[in-house]
Amino acid sequence: MVQSPARVETLGLFPYTYCPCSPSKQINSMVDIVYCGTRMAPEVVDNERGTDAEIPLQVAEDFQEEYFTSYEDVEIHRLMVSDSPRTKAYADAINNNKHLFNDKIVMDVGAGTGILSLFMAAAGAKKVYAVEASGIGVVIQKVAEDNGFGDVIKVYHAKVEDISLPENEKVDVIVSEWMGFYLLHESMLNSVIWARDNFLADDGTVFPSEARIYACPCSLTSFYKEQISFWGSVYGFNMSAVKKYALKSKMTKPEVCLVPESDLLADPVCVKKFNLRWVSEDDVKFFQETTFVGITKPGSYQGLCFWFECDFDGIDYDEDGQAFGTLTTLSTSPFSPPTHWKQIVVVLGYGDENNQQMELTCEEDIGCNEDLNIGTENVGNSSHDKEEKLDIVNDNQESVCPEGQDECRTPNMPDGTFDEISRSSLDNRVETDEVVGWKITLAQCENNMRHYTMTVEMLDPETEEHPVPCSCPRPQCLIISKMLEKEEMENEDTDSS
Ligand code: SAH
Repeated sequence: MVQSPARVETLGLFPYTYCPCSPSKQINSMVDIVYCGTRMAPEVVDNERGTDAEIPLQVAEDFQEEYFTSYEDVEIHRLMVSDSPRTKAYADAINNNKHLFNDKIVMDVGAGTGILSLFMAAAGAKKVYAVEASGIGVVIQKVAEDNGFGDVIKVYHAKVEDISLPENEKVDVIVSEWMGFYLLHESMLNSVIWARDNFLADDGTVFPSEARIYACPCSLTSFYKEQISFWGSVYGFNMSAVKKYALKSKMTKPEVCLVPESDLLADPVCVKKFNLRWVSEDDVKFFQETTFVGITKPGSYQGLCFWFECDFDGIDYDEDGQAFGTLTTLSTSPFSPPTHWKQIVVVLGYGDENNQQMELTCEEDIGCNEDLNIGTENVGNSSHDKEEKLDIVNDNQESVCPEGQDECRTPNMPDGTFDEISRSSLDNRVETDEVVGWKITLAQCENNMRHYTMTVEMLDPETEEHPVPCSCPRPQCLIISKMLEKEEMENEDTDSS
């Protein structure tokens, strides 16, 4: 799903960041976030106002309308289709599992321009129901005809919830690209669940078959350099005061950005897993997961990075027990080639709530908020533009900084200056094997199901109960994990003998 900054809605008016500083350097921070509409940039909701209670029904319906209107924009479809890790994952999953598609009746939920329907028709599908509610749906029939699949692909230009198949036919496979930022943004999964429950044969397949949300504590070195310290000196003027304002806004909104692998401070943890064949609407309405991890790389703990992965599991076994078909994984992690989903970072808040003191570092490298140069094979490679932008800033900084003056430590800075902030950031340094924890809550809003509220709360690993099993290196957690692992292996041995 594509971010569409032009369509940002402002539902939440005031940021809410709760950061009581405790004497031990354990930080408690809670950020509530509401994401609005289609591929829109995230917004924050004020806790006092609640997330959905005051939204009148008509407004909620308008959001629904706007959701589909935004998909009329062909640019969104160009971004998606040219996102090669995304589109190639679907192509591979279909082409390498022809046994699921050949001579089968299949459905493409949210067909867009029809690209996935074409993959399925080319893989030998007998009938492809291409369902698309937005205006772009007008092109699909012609696209099908132009590729010789006019008789195979049947287009429903409607919401999947509003269609019925001839003679209540059931389909063998449902394929859909429904994923949004942090996986669930947009709530299109609800439509896929609806289609599955109404149109899929009992022994049918849903592609993707599994989806997982991952999280990892991270530093935000590049983010701070590009987004915050930029304001140190601009066109010959000291604009350091803007830094504090910029930080305040960044801390209360999740950032959609590319996080370099080198900024990750621990091994990523899967915080939520959905089996798409069986997941229910209730499962995605609300969930809360507590996680503790051990730091593997010392650094400044400045954010929590989230991303998702999807599996397309087409593996099956013949009568002789021989496996056939393949497993394809679409990953949006910092370890994989960038996609238009990038990653999501919740910038953690530290310091005193009232004076909104925030930490920042000003170090090398950039990486966040690069524009994806989708449209070429090499998604995400916009380094040329990036360098040009930086050159301009650096020229100005050179001209304004007094000789020998570190560009980030310009004199006469107001309260909450970089020096102060930098010290505060050092306090958030984490060391190898140190345990950090958080609780993430995702709640779908009732009046507008396109919205989720995401709450991230930092936990004290000493006082909070750890889940079982727990991925942190505390001796008691390690022992439990080892015991469970052993038990699982023994069970597997018993099953196979
Ligand atoms: N399958 C295309 C488009 C994916 S984007 C591709 O891979 O390029 C998701 C698409 O689903 C959008 O075009 C959106 O309009 C459509 N969509 C979302 N919810 C839908 C619903 N309930 N019924 C029909 N179409 C829907």
